[in-house]
Amino acid sequence: MSKYFGTNGIRGTIDVLTPELAYKASYATGVYFKGGKILIATDARLTGPILKEKVIVGLLDAECTVFDLGGVSTPTAEFMVKKLKADGLIVITASHNPPEYNGLKIMDRNEISISKERGEEIERMIDSPPKIKMKKGAISKHNNSINDHIEAILNQIDKNKTKGKRLLLDCANGMAATIAPYLFRELGCEVTTINSHIDGNFPGRPSEPTEANVQDLINAVKYGNYDCGIAWDGDGDRVIFVDEKGEFVIGDKVFAICEILKLKEKSGEVVTTVATSRIIEDVAKKYSSKVVFTKIGAPYLSEEMAKGKAVIGGEEVGGVIWPEVSLAKDGFLTAAKIVEALSEKKLSKWLEDIPKYYNEKTKIAASETQKTKIIAKMREHAVKNKLTFIDIDGIRINFDDGWVIVRASGTENYVRVFTEAKSAKRAKDLLNDYIELVKRLLEVL
Ligand code: MG
Repeated sequence: MSKYFGTNGIRGTIDVLTPELAYKASYATGVYFKGGKILIATDARLTGPILKEKVIVGLLDAECTVFDLGGVSTPTAEFMVKKLKADGLIVITASHNPPEYNGLKIMDRNEISISKERGEEIERMIDSPPKIKMKKGAISKHNNSINDHIEAILNQIDKNKTKGKRLLLDCANGMAATIAPYLFRELGCEVTTINSHIDGNFPGRPSEPTEANVQDLINAVKYGNYDCGIAWDGDGDRVIFVDEKGEFVIGDKVFAICEILKLKEKSGEVVTTVATSRIIEDVAKKYSSKVVFTKIGAPYLSEEMAKGKAVIGGEEVGGVIWPEVSLAKDGFLTAAKIVEALSEKKLSKWLEDIPKYYNEKTKIAASETQKTKIIAKMREHAVKNKLTFIDIDGIRINFDDGWVIVRASGTENYVRVFTEAKSAKRAKDLLNDYIELVKRLLEVL
């Protein structure tokens, strides 16, 4: 059981991710990376400067050469790992979480974030720090990473197709503001922005780009004259859209459009997590491609992508990986690819090509031991009833007209049940059936 690492690095409020823990974790990470050139970056959060100081000292004590990228988005920082031939990266960010949170996203030289499993070695060194000679490392700044990242994206996009597109960008008062407006102006778009001043209090909207949180964007697009609205999460790896009519485009549909764009030009595997919509499988089938499922969490996607067979990867919340640029989710390249596709047809028309599914979800209270047992029982249930299932992260049972996943929450005492089906009724019925089953199993545990 991981003590500090979650699905993507170490995250918590300042009383959990304390400056002391930030020091110890960075020292342990520096030792794990065996010194070398380590990049660091911060997002907009108010606890960023104090944690950054500790991260720098921790890395220097572990004899690292620290390259400070400054305040940049996570995709920019992750892109720079390959570009600067770094041995690792620590981004001080809590992604889409509320302002009181912060975190450390850690990536290795192969552009793969450190998962819970790989994090265990770092955790052991946090708890009992190994003694090294303590020859101090060195620090320097690299100020050009945003331009480098923009250039890499521009190389992937045909400017003739993006020219003149009217965009409304919602930067969430986060790190998207450091790159998105500049990128799209370079692409010849007419750019209007909201929430584009950086403020760690996230005064404009919460940093997670859910439909409820981006109402200002939706209304502005609905009553304005835009080809689309685009919104990122706090650190910029996730992106969602609002079509020209003001309809919210959820993350898995953003991923599906990207999947169509990619598979049209190049065949290969598609990597996604077990919680992603069947839309991704339907699209893959249409282009005779195969979907490879991973556990939920960005590190697992990157691990699978690193095997080299996949042409695109992504997750249900709007994070898409384009391996030709980086093995990490890139909310800016993703956004640019979709804006480029608007030269072919309007966003609402793209959505017409995507199959419609309905979702339901709930959570059921269960203790740490109950959670493990429930998942084991669910597996037994699937085997006994000869159901088709995937058991890499919880149990996902597939039916012809939908699927259900029962998963233990990684951070809370719940079992989560999520369903998807071709009709709203079937999604609801599936949910009710499995709530009942989980509750029945809980009673006999
Ligand atoms: Mg994020």
